[in-house]
Amino acid sequence: MITNNPEQTKALAKQFMEGLVPGHGTTIIELLGDLGAGKTTFMHGVGEYFGFTKPLASPTFVIGKHYDLPEGFPWKRLIHIDAYRIESAKELSGIGWHTYASDKSNIIFVEWPSNLETDIHATKRIIFKHINENQRDIEI
Ligand code: ADP
Ligand code: MG
Repeated sequence: MITNNPEQTKALAKQFMEGLVPGHGTTIIELLGDLGAGKTTFMHGVGEYFGFTKPLASPTFVIGKHYDLPEGFPWKRLIHIDAYRIESAKELSGIGWHTYASDKSNIIFVEWPSNLETDIHATKRIIFKHINENQRDIEI
């Protein structure tokens, strides 16, 4: 998909969520792409899908954010991890990846999954590419 502005990227995120059916394991979605490619913007659309009125905070400076989800969804908790700044295994153990990933009531989105230095067994992969100032190529 090509999106022509941030609003379209958020709309694509909502469409993605509408079609997402939980499988047997924990729902884990990896978001790949350079800085500024639109990963966090996509997450804002995910937040809107779940009915949050405030945009999800960018977790770049805190690594992970948790949100309790309202009733009526197949998951109880949304976890948004931005591993961009993870530099050491110490930080990795600090965020408790395996605890998150073993709980099927979580839906987990991970930016910069390779920095976690563990196989995250993602159920979906979304690849963001910068085309020009306002256009992004988003492959699900
Ligand atoms: P990332 O999390 O991948 O580093 P962000 O979502 O934080 O990227 O930043 C994307 C930036 O690009 C934002 O400033 C956003 O307003 C801008 N932008 C411009 N066009 C688009 C688009 N089509 N989709 C998403 N973001 C866009
Ligand atoms: Mg980001």
